[in-house]
Amino acid sequence: KSGFVSIIGRPNVGKSTYINQVIGQKIAIMSDKPQTTRNKVQGVLTTNDAQLILIDTPGIHKPKHKLGDFMMRVATNTLREVDLILFMINAVEGYGRGDEFIIEKLKGVHTPVFLVINKIDQIHPDQLLSIIEQYKGLYDFAEIVPISALEGQNTDRLLQQIKEYL
Ligand code: GDP
Ligand code: MG
Repeated sequence: KSGFVSIIGRPNVGKSTYINQVIGQKIAIMSDKPQTTRNKVQGVLTTNDAQLILIDTPGIHKPKHKLGDFMMRVATNTLREVDLILFMINAVEGYGRGDEFIIEKLKGVHTPVFLVINKIDQIHPDQLLSIIEQYKGLYDFAEIVPISALEGQNTDRLLQQIKEYL
């Protein structure tokens, strides 16, 4: 099995951390500052049963100027061509207008989308349940997967679920 997986989400949700965790080397650029990932950074993961191309897709956010608008269309078109989209959110911050904008973009894309709830090491299990409840009504997600990219919590299970969609 092999396929392309695009990772989207607001700045700082943990996209680069997740890619690094999966690939096991520093490919994506990590920073506390938002939007340091300027290009589509691709990581290739080869296991005994699958090959995965991970794409860190920046630029899915409300454009502030014309160039931003163009870049966002490029990013949105990328989403049509991949096998699976991981929409990553930050369990600590909760739902925001950035998410609303991304979900609107996803509606015209027709690629399966996982909701990946990251940073669960930072929250109480009850909080996780209410986040799941909240997001379930916003989009028809193929899977909803809570993880901690930093601590590697549940990331093996996410990888198994990804492989089922390739
Ligand atoms: P990106 O902008 O979406 O690529 O986010 P980054 O991967 O650069 O992560 C932003 C910040 O969140 C960094 O300081 C990471 O160490 C931190 N972070 C990422 N994943 C987790 C996690 O699972 N738990 C916690 N506590 N922090 C995380
Ligand atoms: Mg990044």
